[in-house]
Amino acid sequence: MNFELSSKAGDIRSSLITTRRGIIHTPAFMPVGTQATVKAMSPDEMKDIGAEIILCNTYHLYLRPGHDTIASLGGLHRFMAWDGPILTDSGGFQVFSLSALRSIVENGVHFRSHLDGSMHFIGPEKAMEIQSALGSDICMAFDECTPYPASYEYALKSLDLTTKWAKRCKESFEKSTPPSPPLSKGGMGGVTSSQALFGIIQGGVYKDLRKRSLEELVDIGFDGYAVGGLSVGEPKEEMYETINFIAPLMPENKPRHLMGIGDLKDMLFAVEAGFDMFDCVMPTRNARNGTLFTSTGRISIKRTEYKSDNLPLDENCGCYTCRNFSKAYLRHLFLAKEILSMRLNTIHNLYFYIDFFRKMRDAIKGKKFGEFKKKWEVLLQ
Ligand SMILES: [Zn+2]
Repeated sequence: MNFELSSKAGDIRSSLITTRRGIIHTPAFMPVGTQATVKAMSPDEMKDIGAEIILCNTYHLYLRPGHDTIASLGGLHRFMAWDGPILTDSGGFQVFSLSALRSIVENGVHFRSHLDGSMHFIGPEKAMEIQSALGSDICMAFDECTPYPASYEYALKSLDLTTKWAKRCKESFEKSTPPSPPLSKGGMGGVTSSQALFGIIQGGVYKDLRKRSLEELVDIGFDGYAVGGLSVGEPKEEMYETINFIAPLMPENKPRHLMGIGDLKDMLFAVEAGFDMFDCVMPTRNARNGTLFTSTGRISIKRTEYKSDNLPLDENCGCYTCRNFSKAYLRHLFLAKEILSMRLNTIHNLYFYIDFFRKMRDAIKGKKFGEFKKKWEVLLQ
């Protein structure tokens, strides 16, 4: 993987990440494909809306259908017919948020499947084995997602464990993945040959612990750095303070990923602080619930006022849904619980997010991010 800053104004960055399966322009939004599918979307539709990378969940694919099954079928890209870059998360977040009866030990976590109650164990080596079998382009080190609230003592103990696991992930990753050869402009066509590995910064809302976590991960050395354990129930001011504190301390020459945060205003704030990559189920989940993002704010398509509204969702949107259908039709599909409702709503919301990031990148290049942010903060109120 290669990371190249293309534009920088203060802390705000725009960059090119070159992976073995394609280029990602940042700041980038990564749609979430939990079960090896971005819900309601085909891979062709993902390409059409301009998605450059998607995120899949290690925990879910390990439990069902199983990473060995996916490997035997040619790997995750082949399995789901998506040939662009894929980032797989570590599984840590889901182990801690979904599974019942988990117990954390030095080596990893014992947990009960949320699907059938069967017992499982994932530790750093297993997390690397699963992601290697899936064949994702960017893997994440296994971490403990520190809950909120957590005492200082707990957050410290938790981050020490995350650092130990990160070290073991790196060792295990290096054994299974030979180092990537330097990018050659000609022969390789700008494509690197191996997986990349990101480390995850924890430490809760304690600034000294966040700094310590980051420094320990930088000592180990990763291809990129992610911030985890935010948006887990802490007040927004604490989340914003942590984002502002940690971003400028992160290595400048590596991608910076803010995990699980997908509110447009929050992402604008984080881009301003210096983050590059985002993932969240918000646009897809909201689409299925009939909540749609537009350039004049968020709307609920089920409202009576749209019953005879012949206009598109958003006259400024170029997506398939807005080019072809009225709000009245989308409202009807939603109320009738038609499958097409979820599909058209998801196409629009994802297009809206990806287009929002494209315009944001243009604003950064044109040194107009401040104006862009101000305009959207008013629209998103
Ligand atoms: Zn649209």
